[in-house]
Amino acid sequence: MPSHLNHQVLQELPTHTTRFIGLAAVDNEKKLKWLYAFNITPCCSMTSKELTNTVGPVTECPYGAEECNSQFFYDMSSSPGQQKRSASENESYKARKKQNVNVSQESCWFCLTNPEVQKQLLLSIGDHSYITLAKGGLVQDHLLIIPMEHVPASINLSDSAEKEIEKYKNALVNYFHDQEYDVIFFERNFVSPHLQLQIVPIPKSRTSGITETIIEFAASQGLKFTELSKFSVLKQVAPPKKSYFYIEVVVNKRYSGKLLHIIEGNFPLQFGRVMTELGNPGI
Ligand SMILES: [Zn+2]
Repeated sequence: MPSHLNHQVLQELPTHTTRFIGLAAVDNEKKLKWLYAFNITPCCSMTSKELTNTVGPVTECPYGAEECNSQFFYDMSSSPGQQKRSASENESYKARKKQNVNVSQESCWFCLTNPEVQKQLLLSIGDHSYITLAKGGLVQDHLLIIPMEHVPASINLSDSAEKEIEKYKNALVNYFHDQEYDVIFFERNFVSPHLQLQIVPIPKSRTSGITETIIEFAASQGLKFTELSKFSVLKQVAPPKKSYFYIEVVVNKRYSGKLLHIIEGNFPLQFGRVMTELGNPGI
């Protein structure tokens, strides 16, 4: 990823660097896709120290002021046919790729390294986790937060992933609150090799007494949920090596219920789906 100094072009700003990302040609016939994930911070919200911070080798701006002013950044002239990888190059690429990916993760639907991941559903990619629309979601904005790490449950997350996921959760709670929705988070640490933290928005008009409704509904299905203290931390409460189903209900941006069911034996895999229908009847 080459970097260059911008001071020849933008004299009104302090000397700062611009990074260019070159993506190789994509072979549409083989259905290959490239994915490059990064976070963008607008210049206006960066300090001058951050703007002038250079990482790695930096060159002078390769373009003159005139070229930069005319937005000379795309080269659409080359023919796509000339950029195709030959069949033998493709085979060696695939072989190299295979060596780099752990087999169990290669077949995991939620590991970003799996080429089958539904990339068109991705909404945000962080350093340790990502947000995606749920495939076949319960409601229009049914989302999933998924860690990059191939771990089965939130109690297995690294500290850095946990912190980032907490930030994502807060941002989503604020977003949905502004749209007149409260939020239910839930995870099923059972028959799932990779954690999917489910986020289902519920219209505020339907969240009064929702925690009690969930407990009653679960009991009618023969499932006993324990209501935890609102200040409890799952990692400290959940018995290690036990499967569980965990629900957090957030009403008006505050935890209104934390419910834990320890799974002994079997568990109805559709429970989360049926439960959220309580707050979204008719879906
Ligand atoms: Zn995985």
